[in-house]
Amino acid sequence: MNIEDIVGEVATAVEPHRGEGKVADYIPALACIDPMKFGIAVATPDGGCHAAGDAHEGFSVQSISKVFTLSLALENVGDALWQRVGREPSGTSFNSIVQLEKENGIPRNPLINAGAIVVTDHLIDGNDADAAIDWLLRVLRDHAEDASIDFDAEVARSESETGARNRSLAWFMKSFGNLENDVETVLSAYFRHCALRLSCAQLARAALFLAFDGKDPVTGERILTPQRCRRINAIMMSCGHYDNSGDFAFRIGLPGKSGVGGGILVVAPGEGTVAVWSPGLNEAGTSKVGALALEALVERTGWSVFG
Ligand code: GLU
Repeated sequence: MNIEDIVGEVATAVEPHRGEGKVADYIPALACIDPMKFGIAVATPDGGCHAAGDAHEGFSVQSISKVFTLSLALENVGDALWQRVGREPSGTSFNSIVQLEKENGIPRNPLINAGAIVVTDHLIDGNDADAAIDWLLRVLRDHAEDASIDFDAEVARSESETGARNRSLAWFMKSFGNLENDVETVLSAYFRHCALRLSCAQLARAALFLAFDGKDPVTGERILTPQRCRRINAIMMSCGHYDNSGDFAFRIGLPGKSGVGGGILVVAPGEGTVAVWSPGLNEAGTSKVGALALEALVERTGWSVFG
């Protein structure tokens, strides 16, 4: 069966589940999203996009952006990044503060909020928050071959207004000397990258290099070294879904990253990338129907890295 047919089958298979899960409401601007939305897009190395449902509608990618900021920060500071953030699964929720005190302000990994805030600090480096966001947008538009990609200012503002927990994490790390820039500067970039709006099709395309050893198979552009690419995939596999990462690896067997906007990005090494979107979440903030769709896709394609 070809991938186009499989994507159609997957969309049909999850149809009875549409609307399941709970839409994130702790960011008010996300609370009003229609829970019935569902999209899926698979990007393949020949430049193909195989899509179904609402795959061309933009949504708030939220923490999926952490994969791209990690890739840029590694380019900026290299392995020095690992002195300020770990690479172990946290086994805690995305915005947990409990481990930070015992572990001297060093977050467990770059995909929990605390870790992503440190990564954002590295992206800013000597520049300002606007320059960091401009850089990220330039890179994403380039990878996705789509100049229309942008962030949603309303979502960023809404998250900032209700961002007490992320502010606490940032100030706590600052007290340990693990944030170089001003807390509000770092958070203004963090809230904006979380508020990036991409469709499933744009997201899968932008991440395609992660499935091909760091090189975009369509343009031939090298984006990351093969080693860094492997390592990002390893972190996505072990930490991409917070305290749901083990279950996600068990069920789907692919490196992935969830976002509380209901998107999930997964990387099928040597095959392609898949982005799904369905706003209802499970308790760990992973899209419920999105994960079901990925399970159905992997079952039909055999793309799990475990065979
Ligand atoms: N912007 C969200 C937050 O910081 C990201 C969480 C997520 O998508 O998992 O709370």
